[in-house]
Amino acid sequence: MNILKNLFIEKCPKCKDTLVNKPNTLTTQIIKFCPNGHYEKEFHPALESYIEKHLT
Ligand SMILES: [Zn+2]
Repeated sequence: MNILKNLFIEKCPKCKDTLVNKPNTLTTQIIKFCPNGHYEKEFHPALESYIEKHLT
């Protein structure tokens, strides 16, 4: 259960800042991103999972 919870921690894996919601009116996808530009993840309701992107 702890591992499952960790998947939903809304923190950047790099700088540990709280992820911010990106408003997106074009799709229903939920996008959260690191305010420092390290990391981004999109929730895809169809897949019921997050797609993670590590930005450099
Ligand atoms: Zn970050």
